[in-house]
Amino acid sequence: MAKYIFVTGGVVSSIGKGISSASLGRILRNRGYTVAPVKLDPYINVDAGTMNPFQHGEVFVTDDGAETDLDLGHYERFLDVSCSTASSITTGKVYRNVIEKERRGDYLGATVQVIPHVTNEIKRLVVDAGKQQEADVVLAEVGGTVGDIESLPFLEAIRQIRKDFGRENTIFVHVTLVPSVGPWGEIKTKPTQHSVINLREIGISPDILVCRTESPMPDDVKEKISMFCDVPKEAVVESLTADTIYEVPLMYEELGLGDYVCNLLNLESREPDWAEWKGIVNTIKNPNHTCRIAVVGKYTSNGDAYKSISEALVHAGISNNCKVDIEWIESDVFEENSNGDKAASPEEVFKGVHGVVIAPGFGERGVEGKINALTYVRENNIPFLGICLGLQMAVIEFARNVCQLEGASSEEFSNKTPYPVIHFIPDQASHTHKGGTMRLGSYPCHLSDNTLAHKLYGTSPIEERHRHRYEVNNDFREVLIKHGMLVSGVSPDYRLVEMVEVPDHPFYIATQAHPEFKSRPNRPSPLFFGLVKAAIAHRAHLLA
Ligand code: GLN
Repeated sequence: MAKYIFVTGGVVSSIGKGISSASLGRILRNRGYTVAPVKLDPYINVDAGTMNPFQHGEVFVTDDGAETDLDLGHYERFLDVSCSTASSITTGKVYRNVIEKERRGDYLGATVQVIPHVTNEIKRLVVDAGKQQEADVVLAEVGGTVGDIESLPFLEAIRQIRKDFGRENTIFVHVTLVPSVGPWGEIKTKPTQHSVINLREIGISPDILVCRTESPMPDDVKEKISMFCDVPKEAVVESLTADTIYEVPLMYEELGLGDYVCNLLNLESREPDWAEWKGIVNTIKNPNHTCRIAVVGKYTSNGDAYKSISEALVHAGISNNCKVDIEWIESDVFEENSNGDKAASPEEVFKGVHGVVIAPGFGERGVEGKINALTYVRENNIPFLGICLGLQMAVIEFARNVCQLEGASSEEFSNKTPYPVIHFIPDQASHTHKGGTMRLGSYPCHLSDNTLAHKLYGTSPIEERHRHRYEVNNDFREVLIKHGMLVSGVSPDYRLVEMVEVPDHPFYIATQAHPEFKSRPNRPSPLFFGLVKAAIAHRAHLLA
């Protein structure tokens, strides 16, 4: 039978509950336990696919095509596992299941209620997630903050799971904020006390308190929290802001959290192996090189909107022994706007930049800016990686400026373009995992020999995850190739263009997929690895 760890959050959101959960997962994983991460999200959206990245950050995509909360990305990166649809449980999904069952008559005339029907469905989904992954430990994080109306059914369900499976099989970890306030930076425990009171009101007494704090907590503060919140002092874990998120598991291990958790759950205490992880953190903190990569996108004011891309750049940095500084650039700076502001010159904006990523995206805003930026990048030999919409932009730019197909565009932005080099393939819909109109999840891609893509991946076929609706229009494949664009990756049936390159350039590659989702600190995405390597070389060239 699996053990269960439930992580809740207190006081305020955005204190790194996802990283704390993922770190705890890594601690168990390093002891050889199989961990199934689960995110319980209280919002009513069935999945995160329809949520605005400005508000909610990146939509993470799993191999099986689920569009999920970005915390699943943290779990995958920290635990080096692949999550599935089962790892993502939202209020919307739970209610949809309950309502479908009610319509089918499964409840045999009962009045369908939050308790027990909704809570039973939550319990079933949590337990199933563990079974599917044959997990020793299910690590389930409840989104939001204790006290929210929305999360109540989830909290009630996890309370019941402890009642069902017993104390030795379930623990509650509460991640809370311990702020420093006033002119002398006094550490305050009151918000934590209140948050624990809130939890207790709904029948949950935390076993461990992870206290997010900016300054080290003196012993008396720990004692105070221990006394007021009714946990042993060893269960008050000081969680200081780390230099890099990848250091957090090491910090927790140092504080004895691993052995403490194993003890509570009656898990055999095993010697953890931290050698590889320590190497990763050491490289992040003491790199030999630096380089600057510009990420051009349309949600750059919210750093979470491109979380997997920025982490993939960190990972590519680790394997190149390099610190990657990211410069976030709003694509519409390269366009004239309606206020009459002139378009910025790419030459100015990319000064001191050693590589460029054109980010994924939906909708027309900023598209012309991306195309303008790309002309400069292509003509000036700046290392470039295009991701999803980034590939589509690269194809449009090349069609317009190299193939002289004036007005070339994508059907996503214009149905009047004379040259729809990117278009919607209607019957493609039936090929998707979910039967929707988006190509979602993992798809194979054949790489041609003697291409940059093949050199970077070192194998073929490869698999990457997708999340897009439009594809390169095969009517234009020939003209693109004739003018020097190389189609280096295609779907197994040759119908879909998966990767393009411009061989006459030091590093110019774009993919229709999202390689950032499969990047790990110990296993970087080959394309990001190549970009950073090329950026280091470009920097050396500029300095020479
Ligand atoms: N908007 C484009 C499409 O739907 C690209 C999507 C993306 O970048 N993820 O095909």
